[in-house]
Amino acid sequence: MNINNRNNINIKDRLVIVIGIGRSGLAAARLAHYLGAKVFISDNSANKTVTSNLQELQLLGIEGELGGHSSRIFEADLWILSPGIAQDSDLVRQAQSKAIPIVSEIEFASWFTDAPILAVTGSNGKTTTVHALALMCQTEKIHGILAGNMGVPFAKMVLPDLMEPDPARVFILEISSFQMEFIRHFQPRVSVFLNISSDHLDRYPSMAEYIDAKLNLARNAGFNDYVVLNLDDPILTERLKTSPAWLVPFSIRQQAETTYFVDDTKVYTSEHATLIPLDAVALPGRHNLANLLAAATAAHLIGIPDQTIAMVMQSFTGIPHRLEEVALVDGVKYINDSKATNLDAVKVALMSFPDPIILILGGKDKGSDFRELIPYIEHKVKQIIAIGQAQTPILAALRDAVRPICVDGLRDAVKITRDSAMPGDVVLLSPGCASFDQFRDFEDRGDQFRLLAKELEIST
Ligand code: ADP
Repeated sequence: MNINNRNNINIKDRLVIVIGIGRSGLAAARLAHYLGAKVFISDNSANKTVTSNLQELQLLGIEGELGGHSSRIFEADLWILSPGIAQDSDLVRQAQSKAIPIVSEIEFASWFTDAPILAVTGSNGKTTTVHALALMCQTEKIHGILAGNMGVPFAKMVLPDLMEPDPARVFILEISSFQMEFIRHFQPRVSVFLNISSDHLDRYPSMAEYIDAKLNLARNAGFNDYVVLNLDDPILTERLKTSPAWLVPFSIRQQAETTYFVDDTKVYTSEHATLIPLDAVALPGRHNLANLLAAATAAHLIGIPDQTIAMVMQSFTGIPHRLEEVALVDGVKYINDSKATNLDAVKVALMSFPDPIILILGGKDKGSDFRELIPYIEHKVKQIIAIGQAQTPILAALRDAVRPICVDGLRDAVKITRDSAMPGDVVLLSPGCASFDQFRDFEDRGDQFRLLAKELEIST
């Protein structure tokens, strides 16, 4: 099947194979089916989720296979590939050798909408930023809708618009580097780049390839598109300076050509009017100010009034599992930052509290160098409690700074804090690692922590 010209793509009666039937695969299969394709789905696992997803699709007459891929997947006009499958996997190589076009769910869904797309990527802060941006993009003329990596697949949101088009529709997409591996035509009106740090080095052979995957977001950006980028991130500024798009910087440190700028007390508009005093911004932490400025800049570019932007900055208190205060036990604050799955997120969490911190760190190691934390923990972190597979590298890296205590799991970690924390301390779960060694996902880890902290609160 020829997919070179986006405007001529027609999948009616085409054999579309969806590889990987998680949330985004399910939504892509439904969209392809609605558009008249002959859809077949294939997943190498057979767990509860994929089984129930297949059952749901079977009700529509879509066939599929679980627990492995048969040769049937190679009789295809198009593959829609789950972001869970790496681009250098054998499966992908085989399809490429048979010249089967492969696209991501994001690319696929984007063929079927002409609504403007505001897409946000970065190593940290994506979910926070897209939620703020989606709140800003709600006016009479702009009906923003949120999708992407945060949990609601883009394809799921495109389908209802095909049935009932909304001329005011704007899509706000959270984009991970994995979702950008197989794109061709995907072209956001506004691409927002928050920051680049050494996340996911377990999946990418090198930092350069990880950065390239992220930069793919603006690969198709043209003269009429915007690239919003963090001026405080040297890698981003260097790598994006040659983009043909309008470069629109944001910064919490510099004022050069930014749409909004910040001093010690306020955020200002480019006309030097006050947008909002800093003490009225609801989200804590300088990093969140950067996220809000990114959202504000993108919103401004599509015509959202400053007043609406300021209102959201004042009222948006964040989302669960990101510096979420979950309990107060005898003057000790328990903070759930389970979404901190890399060390940059841990660093900003540590900088967000002036108080002494007991840090719960660890989980499934991603190959990070925990020594990076040393300048942030010195004089601030009074105890580190290490959990999960990453205990050994944590011990090796940090034992000279603050001797870490190793425990089996979260329950034991929280139990220890009961005795070691003093009023005024912060107990911070900011693991800096993935959660899959002991938990279903980061939400499960954060929910368990919240529960354990609440149990402590109730028992005192
Ligand atoms: P993402 O969707 O990119 O993972 P989230 O908004 O879910 O981002 O936040 C993930 C983690 O990163 C949280 O621990 C949060 O406190 C931290 N974080 C948020 N914004 C930033 C930022 N701009 N720089 C560094 N860390 C951040």
